[in-house]
Amino acid sequence: MNTLDKDIKDLKVLISEEEIQKKLVELALDIEKEFNTDEEIYVICVLKGSVMFCADLVKHFKKNIQMEFIRISSYGHETKSTNNLQAIDLTLPNLEGKNVLIVEDIIDTGLTARFLTDLFKIKHYPKKLGFVSLLNKKCARQVDIEPDFYGFEVDDKFVVGYGLDYKGYFRNLPYIGYFPC
Ligand code: 5GP
Repeated sequence: MNTLDKDIKDLKVLISEEEIQKKLVELALDIEKEFNTDEEIYVICVLKGSVMFCADLVKHFKKNIQMEFIRISSYGHETKSTNNLQAIDLTLPNLEGKNVLIVEDIIDTGLTARFLTDLFKIKHYPKKLGFVSLLNKKCARQVDIEPDFYGFEVDDKFVVGYGLDYKGYFRNLPYIGYFPC
């Protein structure tokens, strides 16, 4: 059973809903410019954390897209990366020769990003592979990887909201927040 030991009343806003929504417009423009093609883009939403980000981001694309969903877990119920990646569902259609954009919520140690990037290159042979993350915790990196696009850089603090959870809670918040110690 999840015992919730954090109270939403203590949550401090780090990135507001307005800031996020404004950033999505810029990100979508940059991504479409980079994928300079009339062909469709396969947008891969990495569940569960990027559900909000991905759903809102794709609304700004002018090109035809397909949406696919994969599920990976790395934190469990901890607030520090366990370095223990669990691929829960990686079922995808044939992406060989396609334009593919992986959509993540946050890059922390970089292990998930590395795993996904390698997996797509080795297994799916996309024509073009892009990686976008809403948040970038550069200071927590354990492997040398950077997203092609990101929304905001954040300090090494545990954040929740807008898809990101603590023990399964707070994903529904329209902003990104944190609990001060
Ligand atoms: P990485 O493999 O880069 O260490 O971690 C990636 C995953 O860890 C993210 O997709 C996210 O699910 C989780 N994660 C990393 N940092 C945070 C954080 O500050 N808050 C929450 N809620 N999840 C995080």
